[in-house]
Amino acid sequence: MTKVFEKSPAFFDTFTRKPAMQKTTHYCPGCGHGTLHKIIADLVAELGIQDQTIIVGPVGCGVFIYYYFESASVSAPHGRASAVATGVSRANPDSVTISYQGDGDLAAIGTSNAIHAANRGENMIVFFVNNNIYGMTGGQLAPTTLIDQVSTTSPSGRSVLNEGYPLRMAEMIAGLEAPVLSARVAVNSPKNVRQAIKVIRKGLEIQRDKKGYAFVEVLSQCPTNWKKDPKEACDWIDEVVCQQYPLGVLKDLIEERAPQQRKCERVEFDAIAEQLNLTTSDDNGKEQIELLQDELRFKFAGFGGQGILSLGMMFSQLSMERHMEVTWLPSYGPEMRGGVANCSVVVSKNAIGSPVVDHPNVLVALNRPSLEKFGPLVPQDGLIIYNSSLIDQIPDDLQGKVYALPATDLASTAGTVKAANVIVLGFIAQKTGMFKLDDLESFLTNTFKKPALLEINRKAVQAGWRAAEQI
Ligand code: SF4
Repeated sequence: MTKVFEKSPAFFDTFTRKPAMQKTTHYCPGCGHGTLHKIIADLVAELGIQDQTIIVGPVGCGVFIYYYFESASVSAPHGRASAVATGVSRANPDSVTISYQGDGDLAAIGTSNAIHAANRGENMIVFFVNNNIYGMTGGQLAPTTLIDQVSTTSPSGRSVLNEGYPLRMAEMIAGLEAPVLSARVAVNSPKNVRQAIKVIRKGLEIQRDKKGYAFVEVLSQCPTNWKKDPKEACDWIDEVVCQQYPLGVLKDLIEERAPQQRKCERVEFDAIAEQLNLTTSDDNGKEQIELLQDELRFKFAGFGGQGILSLGMMFSQLSMERHMEVTWLPSYGPEMRGGVANCSVVVSKNAIGSPVVDHPNVLVALNRPSLEKFGPLVPQDGLIIYNSSLIDQIPDDLQGKVYALPATDLASTAGTVKAANVIVLGFIAQKTGMFKLDDLESFLTNTFKKPALLEINRKAVQAGWRAAEQI
């Protein structure tokens, strides 16, 4: 075992989350997460399973676990780590799969996922970090909050009549038939850490030997939200928390259980395509596009409702039909409520490294905020097409070649302002030489089934094309 003060070999040498945090973690001083990370990392290294280990991280204070462990890792949506770990474990039967979850993640939003994974006896170890509170979001009551414990949402203390009893997950899991191990440990004192190491070693050995499901609940101090200093928080676990959450091994069938291996069949793409009635043939008689560069990175941006995402999709689909590598990445979030909605599209002759577009070769800005936001990011040899119907002022710091395209006015003349995105489609196709007008028209014919709509969009694409020839 690595010495207590040595950095575990299963950790990265430097943690790259933030430049100022390369040697330390993001956890608060005195937090139990760091101690638990160290125990797991030391044991993973000691058991020689680092290359097999895949960690599934939660939403919560442990969300950045992938910055610390030099293992494969996957981030799961909130509460879904046990479900994601199920997929990871089944698709990689030789892996040692770790699901790392807090009490909000596992015992609130993810209870059903957690219980069913345990009940199926998946080959995984689950670390359930119980600090009796929602840590990351500021100390709200969790299913694990102690009776009478004060939280930001239970200012008079948890009341059994109001919020029910604390959920004892380790006992619940121990009551199921499938799990091999269920235990509760703590990381608040040297004595408890020694006991935790023993139990966690056992849980990881179960994984190494493929014997099934192990659950380790870890009582962990959260000095920040408990409003205690680190020493008081550690003492509080012994004096108060352990009274409601007794430590101990609640179930241990490690000697009785034989290794279990689930069948993992690799399904070929052709078989899936056949099931879905999809053609697997790539040959549609069309040739690859000639691009201005081997890879073009587009950013389409505007108000939600201007057809920005559809514009990106049309470009992607047209490019795919021409056997190009393509990614399409929409951006949602608050931007959908009146600000800048955008999507990134990469079209390449080769495999694409990342779908993220920071410095677009081609920017389409259909409103002013998007031109202000993304315009300065376009390099000198890039193209900026902005909607001059709605933008009357352009930033001073643009470097790329700028085209003013009255997209909304042209669309209105074609029949509806909603066709501004198709105006842009015709404009870019002509300016970049990626598609011929005939290609665009036959694409629209296949896309719009209603004759009236098709007519408007055909007029729009022609108007965009003509505008590009004239500017
Ligand atoms: S809020 Fe609590 S659980 Fe989260 S990092 Fe800080 S001390 Fe740890």
